[in-house]
Amino acid sequence: MIPLVDLTAQYHSIKKEMDAAVLSTLESGHFILGPQVTKFEESVAAYLGVKHAIGLASGTDALVIALRALNIGDGDEVIIPAYTFFATAGSVMSVGAQPVVVDIDPQSYQMDANKIEAAVTPKTKAIIPVHLYGHPSDMNPILEIARKHDLKIIEDNAQGYGAEYLGRKTGAMGDVGCLSFFPTKNLGAYGDGGMAVTNDDALAGQMRMLRAHGWKKKYYSEMVGYNSRLDALQAAILQAKFPHVDAWNEKRRELSKRYNEHLAPLGITTPVEREWAKHVYHLYIIRHEKRNALQAFLKEKGIASEVYYPIPPHLADPCRKFGYKEGDFPHAEKAARETLALPLYPELTLAQQDEVIAAVKEFVSK
Ligand SMILES: *Cc1c(COP(=O)(O)O)cnc(C)c1O
Repeated sequence: MIPLVDLTAQYHSIKKEMDAAVLSTLESGHFILGPQVTKFEESVAAYLGVKHAIGLASGTDALVIALRALNIGDGDEVIIPAYTFFATAGSVMSVGAQPVVVDIDPQSYQMDANKIEAAVTPKTKAIIPVHLYGHPSDMNPILEIARKHDLKIIEDNAQGYGAEYLGRKTGAMGDVGCLSFFPTKNLGAYGDGGMAVTNDDALAGQMRMLRAHGWKKKYYSEMVGYNSRLDALQAAILQAKFPHVDAWNEKRRELSKRYNEHLAPLGITTPVEREWAKHVYHLYIIRHEKRNALQAFLKEKGIASEVYYPIPPHLADPCRKFGYKEGDFPHAEKAARETLALPLYPELTLAQQDEVIAAVKEFVSK
């Protein structure tokens, strides 16, 4: 059986460091925030080249807390791409605002910057580009539209840790960048975790308050906040993984290139990497008209694959009230019918990859 991701293989490759990180945290007596969390926040801030990094309980919370810190809520609109994980839309709705959807570029799967301006209304407060699959969104036109209409940018960088746009790290270009350390992400914890990053001192202060009950001073709530703190165990694990991520991302890039070389000649639509992009392949996504049949065939051969995502956010149940219907965002809907993620993780062996390639080859030559 070839899994989609193999977290155990990664653990075994760095077992000593992971075990030491966990044990030293248990000995430290600090479990929520504290020195381990501060150290990891400083590491990520330096890596991305931002002033502030705020460790949170999840990537979803990072989006919610970023929106709250920017005072986005009832009656406001936030522009999001038509193809993303539901949390992008859900976080906007959970602060009382309305997600306004724009279609994607069908090759890169990123928000189509040319379609954003038509979606701007007097109620629009922010745009959330999502660096989907680890490929950056086309940020310069998005930043330009935001400047022109006085909108905030929240980057959903849950899948893009380490990716670059014209040499700049994703997550560090907008007003706030949101990271997820869900175990399968490129930098993953052994549980939930997230982070918000910003260069804005005031926003950073707001987000620090929001993660702990609205406190500046302990027990003196100044607003209704959340309990959304990165815990020390996860921070210690993440700090120990942190120096490995660039090499892991390189491995993902090499394996993806190898997939491309073998699959493109079979007529499979393989991922693109725009000339301004450094893709970190959180997911390796192919496209096929008979996607469901291909997935079933791979399963028979003992090869896992997954659909990210079967339902675009505008067609998800909680968004029905906005009146979106099938056909509104044809590129996203077609992607939902045709895309498939193949096994990809830094520890995937060439022999395993060859098995996946052979299975796809067998399917297309049937
Ligand atoms: C994983 C993910 C999130 C949410 O992160 P969690 O840590 O799971 O809450 C948000 N947006 C995108 C695009 C994601 O992939």
